[in-house]
Amino acid sequence: MVLARFNDRDESAPAEAASAAAAPDAGRVTPMMEQYVEIKAANPDCLLFYRMGDFYEMFFQDAEIASRALGIVLTKRGKHLGQDIPMCGVPVERADEYLHRLIALGHRVAVCEQTEDPAEAKKRGGKSVVRRDVVRLVTPGTLTEDTLLDARRNNYLAAIVRARVSSPAEEGRFALAFLDISTGEFRLTECDRVGLAAELARLEPGEIIVSDALYGDADMAPMLRALPAVTPLTRDVFDGATAERRLASYFAVATTDAFGAFSRLELTAAAACVTYVERTQIGKRPPLSPPLREAQGATLAIDAATRANLELMRTLSGERRGSLAAAIDRTVSAAGSRLLAQRLAAPLTDPPAIEARLDAVGALVADPALRGDVRASLAAAPDLARALARLVVGRGGPRDLAAIRDGLDAAAALAARLAQLAPAPAEIAQAAAALRAPDPALTAELAAALADELPAFKRDGGFVRAGYDGALDETRALRDESRRVVAALQARYADETQVRALKIRHNNVLGYFVEVTAQHGDKLLQEPLKRTFIHRQTLAGQVRFTTTELADLEAKIANAADRALGLELAIFERLAERVIALAESIKAAAQALAAIDVAAGLASLAAERDYVRPEIVAGLDFTIAGGRHPVVEQAIDGPFVANDCDLSPPQISSHDSASAGRIYVVTGPNMAGKSTYLRQNALIAVLAQMGSFVPARRARIGVVDRLFSRVGAADDLARGRSTFMVEMVETAAILNQAGPRSLVILDEIGRGTATFDGLSIAWAAIEHLHETNRCRALFATHFHELTALAAKLTRLHNATVRVREWHGDVIFLHEVVAGAADRSYGIQVAKLAGLPAPVIERAKLVLAELEAEDRTSPARKLVDDLPLFAATPRAAPAPAARDEAAEAVIKALAALNPDELSPREALDALYALKLAAAKKQ
Ligand code: ADP
Ligand code: MG
Repeated sequence: MVLARFNDRDESAPAEAASAAAAPDAGRVTPMMEQYVEIKAANPDCLLFYRMGDFYEMFFQDAEIASRALGIVLTKRGKHLGQDIPMCGVPVERADEYLHRLIALGHRVAVCEQTEDPAEAKKRGGKSVVRRDVVRLVTPGTLTEDTLLDARRNNYLAAIVRARVSSPAEEGRFALAFLDISTGEFRLTECDRVGLAAELARLEPGEIIVSDALYGDADMAPMLRALPAVTPLTRDVFDGATAERRLASYFAVATTDAFGAFSRLELTAAAACVTYVERTQIGKRPPLSPPLREAQGATLAIDAATRANLELMRTLSGERRGSLAAAIDRTVSAAGSRLLAQRLAAPLTDPPAIEARLDAVGALVADPALRGDVRASLAAAPDLARALARLVVGRGGPRDLAAIRDGLDAAAALAARLAQLAPAPAEIAQAAAALRAPDPALTAELAAALADELPAFKRDGGFVRAGYDGALDETRALRDESRRVVAALQARYADETQVRALKIRHNNVLGYFVEVTAQHGDKLLQEPLKRTFIHRQTLAGQVRFTTTELADLEAKIANAADRALGLELAIFERLAERVIALAESIKAAAQALAAIDVAAGLASLAAERDYVRPEIVAGLDFTIAGGRHPVVEQAIDGPFVANDCDLSPPQISSHDSASAGRIYVVTGPNMAGKSTYLRQNALIAVLAQMGSFVPARRARIGVVDRLFSRVGAADDLARGRSTFMVEMVETAAILNQAGPRSLVILDEIGRGTATFDGLSIAWAAIEHLHETNRCRALFATHFHELTALAAKLTRLHNATVRVREWHGDVIFLHEVVAGAADRSYGIQVAKLAGLPAPVIERAKLVLAELEAEDRTSPARKLVDDLPLFAATPRAAPAPAARDEAAEAVIKALAALNPDELSPREALDALYALKLAAAKKQ
C-alpha cells in the first residue's frame, strides 16, 4: 500500500521527485532541497509540511519525529550533503487528521504550499523548482477547522504579560488577553498572581504565549511549565511601545481609543495576541471582535482546586460525563454549548445582570410552545461563527457558505417566532434584534447559488447550482459534451481495431490515452493502425497509445473543465466576499443564537427537572429549601432526598449577627450524604449566579463573590496528589483569602493526618472561619468533638445526616437535620461492606471497651478550658504533653516481651498501647 502511494506521488510531481532523488555526486544540493532548507530555516520550531503534488512531505528530523508520532512509514529519498534524506508524508486529503494528532501531541506545524502551477515552473526551465511558501502555522491556539476543534468548547489563545517591577503599586500585576479565532471572541483583564492562576483554570486556553523573558523567569517557571502548550516568543511580540499601533492596525482603525481605555499592560497583552495570530495565519486576519475588558469582580472567583473539586466542567477523573456541565447542558447547538460552558465557568456577581439572564430563562419556562419552536429552529442552525471565521481566513469551503445560508435562515425564523413573545425580556429582545440584522438578500443569493449536494472542498467544483450562472452552464455543457465524445471515440476505435477491450483512460502524467492489453499491443504497433496510434508506454500488462484526435479532444476537455472550475471559484470568492462584508452582523447573529440556545436549554432543564428561579439579593442570605444535588439526582436510581440549608445571618440580634452568615458543622457516618450535601449547596450558588434556575423548592441567595471548596486528603486520590501537604496548602489559601461574601465548603479537612492533629487543625480552622473570615461555610467532619464548638461560636450550627439502625444494620436516610451525629456507625458500614463476621464481632467488643474508657468527652472540656480563638496569643508554643505520652508508651513497650505473648495477648497489648497514647494526650 505504501509503495502504491509512492507511485502515485511520482506521477503527480514527476520532475521534482526526480530532481530530489537524483543527487549523483555527494555534497551537491539539489535546487529543491535548497528551497526546503531555506523554508525550514525560517520555521525552526515547527514541523514543516512541504507540499509535493498530492502529499505533504516531511524530511530529515521532522520526518523522524512525525513518523514516530503518527505511526507512518519512514523512508529515504535521495541524498543531501552525502547523507540519506529521511522522509515521510501524509496525503493532502487526510492532512487534517494527521494535523490533529500532531497538535494534540504538542507539535506546531508549518504548512508549505505550492504557490504556482508546476507547469509554470517547467516553463522557466527543466531544473526549476515550483515556488512554495508557508501559508499558515498550525498551533494549538489558532485552529479554525471543525475537525481540529471540539465543537462544544472554546479554544482560546491567551497572552500573559507581567508588569515591570519598577513601581511598587504595579508589583505582581499581570495582564491576560485571550481570544478564540474560530469564533472571534477577544477579551482582556488585569489580575494578580492568584487571580491569574484562577483565570487560566477558568479558560483552559489551548495555547498560552509569553515572552522569552517571562518563560525563563525563575519565579514564573514552575507555574508556566505545569501548563500545557506554552509558547515562548521573542521580545518584539510583547513590546509595549508598539502595542497600540499593532492593535490598531489589526482592526484597521486609527486608534484603539474607541475600544475603551486600556492600560499599557493590557494593550501589550492584546497586541501580542493579534501579532501572533497574524504570524500564524501569515497575514490573514480572522474576524475578531474588538477587545473587551472583563470587569474586575464581575464574576464569581473560583480557583483551580475548587473548580476541579466541584467537578464543574469535568469529573476528577477527567471526563465530561458526570460533571455539572454535562448534567445541565440541554443546548441543541455547538455555539450554545460553548456559551453555556463560558457562563458556567464564570458566574456573575451583579444582581441585575443575573436577573436579566433569569428573566430570559423564566420567559421560556413559562411558554413551553415557544420553547419547543425555538429549540427546533436552533437545532437546524449550523455553527455560524466558525464557518464565518474559516471563510474570512480563506480556508472556507462550499459547505461553509451553506452553513451561513442555513444559519441566517434559522436566525430569521427564530426572530419571527420570538417577536410573538410580548413583552419580551431584555435579553431575548436584544437577541431577536441581532437575529434580524443580517441582510436577507444574502441568504437568498446563497440559496440560489449553491447546489443541493456540496463537495468538501471548493477545488472539487460542482457546488454552483445549474441555472445560476449562464457562462458556467455553457462551459459545463461543453465539458460534458466532450466526455460523451470520448465515449463515442472509444467505441469507434474498438470497432476500427477490432479490439473489444480497448479503453480510453486518463491519468495525471499521460492525460487521456488509449489502452489495450499486452496481447493486442502488437496489432496497434503495426501498419496500418500504427499510423493512427502513437505509442506512449508499455507496462507489464498493458500498452498505451495516443492519437492526434484524442490529443485535440483532451485539450478541449481540459480547457472546458478548467474554465468551469475557474468560473465556480470566482463565484465562490464573490459569495465569500459578500459574506465577509456582513461579518459583523453575522457574528452578532451567531452570538444571539447561542444566547437564545442557552436560555432555552436552561428553561428545558428547569421544566424537566423541576428547578425554581432563585431569588438573588444583595445581602448575605443563603437559604435553600428542598435543595438537591443537580448531578447526583440525575445519576441515582432511587429518589433523591431534598435538604434545606440556611447560612443566612441569624435573625436574633447579637453584636455581630447581621454582618456575617452562618457556618454549618455537618456530622454523620460515612456514606450518609455529607459530601453530597456540601456540594449541592455550592453548585446551587454557581447555578443561580450563572443565571440558571436551581434544583430546590425555594432559594434565596445573597451573591457570593468567591467560592472555595476543599476535600480532605483521603478523598482526593483521583487527582493523584493525596498528600496531607496539598490539603493544608489549599486550606491555607482559603483561610487567607475568604471574606464575608465568600462561600466555603470544607469536606473532612484534617483527615489526612493523625486523629489529634487533624482534630486540632479542624478545630482551629473553624474558629478562624467564624471569627476572622466571617464567611458562610459548610464544614463536614467525622470529628464529633467539633460539634461542641457550637456552644461558644454564635453563628455556628450543628447539622447531621440522619441514619437509622435496624436489626444491627444501618439505613441511610440522607436527611439533614439540626444536631450532632450520636456516633459514626463505622462498624455497621463495615458490615455493609462485607467485612467477615468475626472481625465485626471483635470490633464491637473493642469499641465498647474504648467507649467505656472515654466517658468524659475531652472536647467538651476543651471548649470550656480553651480561651476563644481570637483571644489566643498568636504563635503560643504548644505544651509538651506529647512527650509525656510518648514516654508512657515507650515504657509500656519496654515492659512487653513479644516472644511470650499469644496472638490474642499481642492484640490486646496493642489496643492498650493505643489507649495509653490517647489518654495521655
Ligand atoms: P459521605 O460524604 O457522608 O460519606 P456521600 O455524600 O459521599 O456521603 O454520599 C454517599 C452516597 O449516598 C452518594 O453517592 C449518593 O448515592 C447517596 N446520597 C447522598 N445524598 C443523598 C440524598 N440526599 N438522596 C439520595 N441519595 C443520596
Ligand atoms: Mg464524604
